[in-house]
Formats: sequence, structure tokens, C-alpha cells
Amino acid sequence: MNLTTHVSGYPRIGEDRELKKALEAFWRGQHGAAELDRVATELRHRHWQEQAELDFVAVNDFSLYDSMLDLACVLGVVPERFGPSGVPLTLERYFRMARGRSRVGGAPDVPALEMTKWFDTNYHYLVPELEKDTEFQRGWDKPIRETREAIAAGFRAKPVMVGPLTFLALSKRRDGGDPLEALGRLLPVYRELLRDLRRAGAEWVEVSEPILAERQDGVLLGALKTCWSEALTDGPKILLAVPFGGLGPARSILATSAVDGVHVDVTRAGAEVDALRKEWPRHKVLSLGVIDGRQIWRADLDALRNRVAGFRDRGNHLWIGSSCSLLHVPHSVDREKTLDPELRSWMAFAREKVAEIGAVAAAERPVDACTAAAEAARRRRQHAGVEDSGLRTELANLSAESFSRSEPVERRRALQSEALGLPLFPTTTIGSFPQTDDIRTLRSRYRRGLFGDAAYEAGLDVATAEAIRIQEDLGLDVLVHGEFERTDMVEFFGELLEGMVVTAQGWVQSYGSRCVKPPVIWGDIFRSQAMTVDRLRRAQAKTSKPLKGMLTGPVTILQWSFVRDDLSRSQVALQLAWAIRAEVVDLERAGLKIIQVDEPGLREGLPLAPKERRAYLDGAVRAFRLATSGVAGTTQIHTHMCYAEFEDVAAEIAALDADVITLEAARSGSSGWGGLVEAGLGSAVGPGVWDIHSPRVPSVEEMAEALRQGLKVLPAERLWVNPDCGLKTRGWEETRAALAHLVEAAERVAAEV
Ligand code: GLN
Ligand code: ZN
Repeated sequence: MNLTTHVSGYPRIGEDRELKKALEAFWRGQHGAAELDRVATELRHRHWQEQAELDFVAVNDFSLYDSMLDLACVLGVVPERFGPSGVPLTLERYFRMARGRSRVGGAPDVPALEMTKWFDTNYHYLVPELEKDTEFQRGWDKPIRETREAIAAGFRAKPVMVGPLTFLALSKRRDGGDPLEALGRLLPVYRELLRDLRRAGAEWVEVSEPILAERQDGVLLGALKTCWSEALTDGPKILLAVPFGGLGPARSILATSAVDGVHVDVTRAGAEVDALRKEWPRHKVLSLGVIDGRQIWRADLDALRNRVAGFRDRGNHLWIGSSCSLLHVPHSVDREKTLDPELRSWMAFAREKVAEIGAVAAAERPVDACTAAAEAARRRRQHAGVEDSGLRTELANLSAESFSRSEPVERRRALQSEALGLPLFPTTTIGSFPQTDDIRTLRSRYRRGLFGDAAYEAGLDVATAEAIRIQEDLGLDVLVHGEFERTDMVEFFGELLEGMVVTAQGWVQSYGSRCVKPPVIWGDIFRSQAMTVDRLRRAQAKTSKPLKGMLTGPVTILQWSFVRDDLSRSQVALQLAWAIRAEVVDLERAGLKIIQVDEPGLREGLPLAPKERRAYLDGAVRAFRLATSGVAGTTQIHTHMCYAEFEDVAAEIAALDADVITLEAARSGSSGWGGLVEAGLGSAVGPGVWDIHSPRVPSVEEMAEALRQGLKVLPAERLWVNPDCGLKTRGWEETRAALAHLVEAAERVAAEV
């Protein structure tokens, strides 16, 4: 018999990013709620239709902004600043919670909910806010309505819901207390919701608890028991899903609980799958998430069919699905009209993954699908560029010196001080300058072939010359070229490096209406040509001040790409590092004295499972050091990091052995990086003194004060003055104003020491 099939969620942005466009037009006031609703409804129906070959379609995975926000609204968790409780939710209010305002134009009138990364994905969710005594109540009826909608349209609906533990554990109590304390008050409301889903016609509900992939402490496991100790009378059947990790000790708790089935992330739970085969109660459903929802490679259907063969005796209690929601992969490979057809034939996006699930679950081996998959895999293995044995040997034989600068950091500081002659508290920026409409038009016209390389380079040079003039006028000490040629810091290198490719339509939702298009690493990586050298040499020639060459680091390129599945990530990182190293060395040769290798993705790559963290961090440090240690002691290596608390990786950041590290610190104050120094950091530090995430221009005194805070942690000779992050999303007006203040703040504090 065919096994039961389903997915844990489907991309919702639309194959042409229809939802993005409809949201942004709504925010701009170009159309009203009715039009937004029309687009949303159409997308839901189209996406159900695309899952129609499965036994269930996922419902309630759709969202106008984010599913955690939706659940907060469903459970009546709307902080007071967004309006009185008890009144029905309006779109106005919903978007205020997400964005601090409902329309563009009006300034944010209230601070939005905080936003942060969803486990180890690049998706961001909104953090619900709880009070010590928050009362939950049924609010928005979205899950019920969408369930009815799917059923009315003739689909077998399986609503998916974020589970009570994940919802609470990821919420924030404003008084700092443990949000899980609210479980006793939440559960009755959650159960009522489940019952209503049953009444609306849902036989099964998938309750997703990814928090179990990350936390398996006694408190959480105790709470898990509490949730599912008794059966739900008149409720739907519960499929408890744990994406992104294994079940661990939750396995035995769930086996004896009232849940009717578990859905396991086979791509992450690997070793556990055998134990499940033996131990998981046969009267409960076991759902195997064998199709990887986190990568884009076509599955080896025969291997997966073999993998599930040993479970088939469970009959209709065996289900087949995706490892997690398909939200994290692009929509359909069909849209890739310009991608090399050979590479395209190795890939499967959401639509193709639906078909793969069907092929794994089919009773009879689907000969055509299996043969085509095997054939693609064979061609992939043999494709030129997938394995470059020369490169592999070279990397396998690297000496210890390749990972280490030739002088220790203090010695380098002395050498660089002499070579660069910078003042106390040198001022600089993080790399990008405002990407105006002119710049975007220039790039897009070039891409469309409207003019050639020379004209494009000339256009970029004009922008850089202007940026340099502004930086000189402001009195900044270390200048940048502005990164005008880059739409995105990873995509830019993805287009130039061999072994990587950029898709045309491979968009993945990052948050709200924002999407990213991760490049694909498919082969061994090497640099066939210098990527930034000419442009940066020309930029340096325009000024007598030092110009900082900008590169993206190996770990960040890895982190923000879809990575090949036939080579370890640490090996891929080394290949990237080797290519970046060549560029670093060439930049030095071209006369640049300062080179920045950005690693904003380093901290966020930290694996969820604690036992995997050591290996990741060691690999990350090795990659960065390989990329940056090919230069002389007189050349100053900068790195930049943001989006994260750094405390728990302080020793590793110290081990990067950069000369200068600029950090996002404006929001967390000096406390966020004090731990780095305690962990033995030898680098100079530029704690961001301007939070560039808002158009607000901080006063001179505010920035001076941030710098004085820095002086409590580090001596003056080791402090730099800079914004928090790149300025590409800012306008020129606030950029000039804030940088003028920044330079003045540095002078003010310099006069005090
Ligand atoms: N150099 C990059 C920029 O300025 C860094 C971006 C980042 O940290 N995310 O845009
Ligand atoms: Zn940054």
C-alpha cells in the first residue's frame, strides 16, 4: 500500500513573490485589505493544489507575516501598547505588532515586537511578549477559518500549529521570569483551540515543537509530560513534530503520552531512527521526515525507499513527509530558466520535494522517478568541477603556518601603528554606503545588458569617488569604497567563485515580506579570477587615506548559501577560505594596507545540539584564520560581526586573531563584548556606537558616552569608532549627519584621555 504523505508546511511567499508584492503595496497604501486578502487566499489555494497529490495538505502554515505572531494573536497575547485587549484583531494592529507601524510613510509609532532567528534557519520570527500574569484567551480564529477554507475547497486538511512549549519557550517575559511558568494557564486555551480545529473538520493536527531539538532539560521535559499526559476528549488526533533535531529523552515520554503520533526529522535524528523502529508503539503513527526541508538537492529515492522499507510493516501507521516545513527552500526548480540545465537537474525545491515524498511512499517502486533521480545523481558525481583532486590534496596538506599570522597580535599592532599612522580612536565604517535608486538602477541596467563592463565600472567609480570625497570631508580615518557593486555580500562572491551558482528565482522568506536568495555551492570552490582587486585598487588611488578592502568571510558565505550535501561543511568552508585567502593576498599586493573579512554569519551557524558546537567552532576558526593569515604583519586584518550575543563564543572570536574587530554593540551597550576581552581577545575593538537599524541620528554626546564605556573595558589604543553595521539601508542625509557626530565624538573623547 501507499504510505500516508504530508508536508509540515509549504513556502507561502508565492512563486513570483506575490505575497511580498501584495504586502508592500498594502503598506504603501496602494491597495486595501480586500486586495491583500484576495492575493493571500489565491496563494493558499494554489499551494494546496500543489500538494494535492499528498494525503494531507498543510493548513495554517500560511501567514501574512509570521506564524509565531499569528499564534500570539490566536491566543490573545497582544501587548497593551498595540491597543486594548479583547477587541477583535485588525490588520492595522497585526502589522503594528510586526513592524511598529501599519503603513509606510507614517513613522513607527510603537516599538514592534522583537524579531529573532528561528532555530538554526535564516527565517526570523516575532517574539511574543508575556507578563508575569498574562491570561490567555481565544482571539483570532485564523487556524479555524483556514481549516474550513481548505476543507470547503475539497482538500484533506492537516492544520500545523506551533506547539505550546515552543511558543512559551521562545516568548519573552518582560519581567525576566521564565515564560514556561504560564503553561498551566495556556494549556486549557490551547486545548480548546485544538477541539475547535476538530469541529472545523481536522482529523489530525500537527503540533510542532522544535524547541525539543535544542533543549531537553528537566523543566522542558516535565512540561512536555504535562502537555500530553491526558487524552483530549473530542479533540483531533495529535501528530507531535520535532523538526531540526532528534527526540532524545522526549521519545519515551511521547511513547507513553496521549499523542497519537510523532513526526521525526530523519535528516537530523539519524541514529535514533533505528530505536524508533524497534520501540515506537505500533498503535501510534510514526511519521518519517525523510525529504530534507533545509536543502535543495534532489533526493536519492531508492536509498530513501530502502531506508523506510524496514518500517513498512506498520502499514497505515507509517507516514512519510518532509523533515521540516518547506518554508526554508525556494518554490520550484521550474522557475530556473537561466540556470545551467545540468545543475538544475540535481535540484529539488518545494514543489519537486512534494513529488519526492510521493515517490518514497509509493507501494510500487516508481521506476521512472527512481531512475531519473539515480541518473541525475550519477551525472552529478561525475560532473567536472564537483571534485578537484588537486585542490583537495593541496588543502589536505596545509601546514600549521597556513593558519597563523607570522607575528603575534601585539607585535602586529606596533608594526601597523607605524605603517598606518592612525590617530587615537580611529574612525571608520563597516563597508557599505547608502544604496540609492541611482545605484540600483545602474546595477539592474547592467544586468539587463543595457551597457557594457566599461560603462558599468565607470558608473561605479563615480559613486565610489563621491563616497570617498564625503568620507574625507567628514574626516574619517579609514575609508571604504562603498560596496555599490554588491546587491548582497554573499551573492556577489557566489557569482564570481567557481563551484557556486546564483539562482534566478530561488527566493526564501527571511521575515515578513523580506526574502533572500541563497547562492548554491555545488562543486569544489576556487577563485578563477581576482574578484575585487581592480576596483579596490582604483578606489585606494583616489585617496591618500588608507582604504579598507572589503571581503565576505568563508563562514558567512557557507552559512548563507545552500551547501552541497556530498562534502562536509568544514571542508567546504576551507575551500572558501582558500579562495578568499588568495584575494586577501592580492589585495595586499595591490597596495591595500587594511582588509576586512566580514563574518556576521559566524555566531548564527552555531548548531542547536550542544555536542555539535565544538566541531563547528573549531572549523569556523580554522577557516577564518586560513583566509586571513597569508599577509604580512604590517597589513591590518579587520573583521565585522553582528546580529548576535557573542558571550558564548568569546574564546573563538578571540582565536580568530584579527587585528581589529567591529561589532554590533550600540543596542546592547558595552556589556555585550566585555566577555571577549576576558576570554583573551588581543584585537582592537570597534564597538558600534551608532545603531544603524533606525534612521535616528544619535547625538555626539551619546556616541562619546558609548566610547567612554568602551574605555572601561579596553585601553584607548585598542578602541575604534564606527557604526554598528553597514549603511546600505540608510539614506545619505542621516548617514552624513551621524558620521559627522561620530567623528566629533572620537575627537571629544580623545581630548579627555
Ligand atoms: N560589509 C558589509 C556591509 O557593510 C557588512 C554587512 C553585515 O554585517 N551584514 O554592508
Ligand atoms: Zn553587520
